[in-house]
Amino acid sequence: MLEIPESHTIAEQLNETIKGKKIITVATDNYPHKFAFYYEDPKGYDGLLKGKIVGKSSAYGGLVEIIVEDIKIVFGDGANIRYHSNNEEIPEKNQLLIKFDDSSSLTCSTQMYAQIHAVKSKEYENEYYDLAKEKPSPLYNDFNKKYFEKLIDEVPPNTSIKSFLATKQRIPGLGNGTLQDILFNAQVHPKTKIKKLRTKDKNELFESVKKTLKQMRENKGRNTEKTLFGESGKYETILSSKNFKNPCPSCGGKFNKESYLGGTIYYCPNCQKLDF
Ligand SMILES: [Zn+2]
Repeated sequence: MLEIPESHTIAEQLNETIKGKKIITVATDNYPHKFAFYYEDPKGYDGLLKGKIVGKSSAYGGLVEIIVEDIKIVFGDGANIRYHSNNEEIPEKNQLLIKFDDSSSLTCSTQMYAQIHAVKSKEYENEYYDLAKEKPSPLYNDFNKKYFEKLIDEVPPNTSIKSFLATKQRIPGLGNGTLQDILFNAQVHPKTKIKKLRTKDKNELFESVKKTLKQMRENKGRNTEKTLFGESGKYETILSSKNFKNPCPSCGGKFNKESYLGGTIYYCPNCQKLDF
C-alpha cells in the first residue's frame, strides 16, 4: 500500500524516467479488477491522454500525481505503479497500461484495492486528494510540534493512538503500515488513549513520526513495498508481516500480533506498555 515514503519515492522516480515522454496509447481493460476504482469511465482515458506529453509527478500524502498537460493522473492505496523500459516484459495483470513513444511503458496493477484516476485537472473532485494536498506533511517543516499538538487537542481524549495517527486522514499518507515502526520507536502501545499520554510521550511521538517517515523515505520506502522499478524498499521494517517474528531489537523479547481497528497491529509488550 502506498504511504508517505513510497508515494514520494515513486513520484521522484517518475520524474527521472517518464517526464517529457509522449503517450501513444492507454489501455484499462487488459485484466479487469473489481477493486480498481477509476474516475468516471476508464474507456475515456485513452482519449484524454493520447498524444500528450508527461509533465511533473508529485506526492501528496500517500497519493501519486502525474500531470499530463491538462490532465491529472492520480494513484492511491494499493496501486502498484511500475515502469518498464522498451525491452522489458509487461505484466499481463494490469489495470492501466500507458505506452510511450520510445516503446517504454507504465503499468498499474491493483493490490487489494486502488484508485486509478485520470481526469481533466479542472474537473477533478476528490476530497481525499484535496486534504492530502492541503495538509502539512510530516516530511516537511510546516508539520511542526505546534501543529502536532493542535492535532492532538482536536481529538476526543478516548481516541486511541492508532486511531489518532492512522485514520480519518488526520495525517494523509500515514497508514497502518508506517504506523507500526512509528509507535515502536516512540515506545507507545497502539491502543494507548490520547488522555493517557504524558508530555514526554507526546514529544516522543512527534519526533518518531518525523524521524521514522524521513528514514523510510530516504531508504526508498519500506522493505514490504516496491519502488517504480519493482525493487523492494531499503528501509528494514521492525514491525511488519515480514519481520515481526524477529526478536525485539530493544529487549530481545517476542512481538505480539493482533487485529485492531480494521488492520493488524504489532507491538512489543515489554517496550510498548499499555497502562490504564
Ligand atoms: Zn521490546
